[in-house]
Amino acid sequence: MDFTIDAAMQRYIDEACSFAEQIAPDTRQREQDRRIDVELRKEMGARGLIAPELPRELGGQGERALTSGMIIEQISRADLNVTYVQVVGSLVAQVIARNAQKSVAQKWVPRIASGEDIVAIGLSEPSGGSDAGNPQMTARRENDGWVINGTKSMSFALHAGATVIFARTEEGRRGRGISAFLVELDRDGITRTATNDMGTVSVGRGFVEFDNVRIPGENLLGAEGQGFTEVMQGFDFSRALIGLQVIGAAQVTLDETWQYTSQRQAFDQPISKFQGVSFPLAEADTMLTAARVLCQKTLWLKDANLPHTKEAAMCKWWAPKVAYDVINQCLLSHGQFGYLRDYPIEQRMRDVLGLQIGDGTAQIMKLIIARQNLGREFAP
Ligand SMILES: Cc1cc2nc3c(=O)[nH]c(=O)nc-3n(C[C@H](O)[C@H](O)[C@H](O)COP(=O)(O)OP(=O)(O)OC[C@H]3O[C@@H](n4cnc5c(N)ncnc54)[C@H](O)[C@@H]3O)c2cc1C
Repeated sequence: MDFTIDAAMQRYIDEACSFAEQIAPDTRQREQDRRIDVELRKEMGARGLIAPELPRELGGQGERALTSGMIIEQISRADLNVTYVQVVGSLVAQVIARNAQKSVAQKWVPRIASGEDIVAIGLSEPSGGSDAGNPQMTARRENDGWVINGTKSMSFALHAGATVIFARTEEGRRGRGISAFLVELDRDGITRTATNDMGTVSVGRGFVEFDNVRIPGENLLGAEGQGFTEVMQGFDFSRALIGLQVIGAAQVTLDETWQYTSQRQAFDQPISKFQGVSFPLAEADTMLTAARVLCQKTLWLKDANLPHTKEAAMCKWWAPKVAYDVINQCLLSHGQFGYLRDYPIEQRMRDVLGLQIGDGTAQIMKLIIARQNLGREFAP
């Protein structure tokens, strides 16, 4: 393993840090506006901060997957919501680049990398997210195209120009007979409804209903009936990125808390002099460092073309839990001020919590880890 930060990666990290500094003051405003401005997305794209791992011919920069993770951690120190552009961008652009017909990939992947557009991913449905291999959504053939019916739940539902969805194209067992499609969200028969989420509000999550939505045959991603298996592999990437996304929000909170506790006085001394205050922060530092190494190792495995499904599932269940626990501890270390909405801590706690659910819950991740170790025959 080699996580050495070379000069090229350092340039991306510096760029991400400078961008984070620029956007930090408006984090609360974006939450109130319930959106991430398109101009902000485009600026990130122009500065090379969205999915730099994509190939150059599709608008990327041919960088390592690890570089993407480094960028996400830095920007998430300022606003975790904004890094949904990176996480969803990297996941979906990779899925499209690998599985779409050339004309579809050439149209959408550069738009994602430039920040001009967002392509969401609709796997979950109101009837169930964990049982993703058994969607209610259907796609039936009509002439040369497809007709889609059903409802999906997704991040960026309100702001995306298109989405990747999974629909049943033939009867079959769980995970079989499911195809993936790219659907432009300005087509007839689409209704978007906002969810009233407690966190990640500026991401604009919601339900998207597809009522006899007609799409051309070229919008099929991968082979018919194989979409679930082929496209799900992309999640091994996003799960490691999500780990670094939540670590960024937790680490900045911990950094602020070391500072706060060394200034705040009680019983005639800085509260950091009490072991009851400093030791939980020392534990938090240890946990975040370990979680970061796990996520970086997973991205390193991806860059080395080595299997990393198990490690990605570990990142996805553990890092959001560690991050949430760390932010919770930091909030308590701030006493009454941590509870104020004037401080950023409560928003970070709400934002991070969503990622214990989104992209698969801890139980589903542990199921994946057990299956990787035992095989399906002996796993739950
Ligand atoms: C912030 C956020 C962002 C999201 N973004 C997206 C997105 O962009 N695209 C998208 O498609 N979806 C998205 N989702 C939906 C998310 O993926 C689902 O909510 C998630 O997969 C869980 O599905 P569910 O809510 O239907 O819960 P259910 O599947 O109903 O599960 C309920 C509970 O039962 C547990 N459970 C279920 N099955 C098992 C089992 N076999 N063993 C043990 N426990 C089990 C679950 O762990 C959970 O605790 C997002 C959700 C959130 C909160």
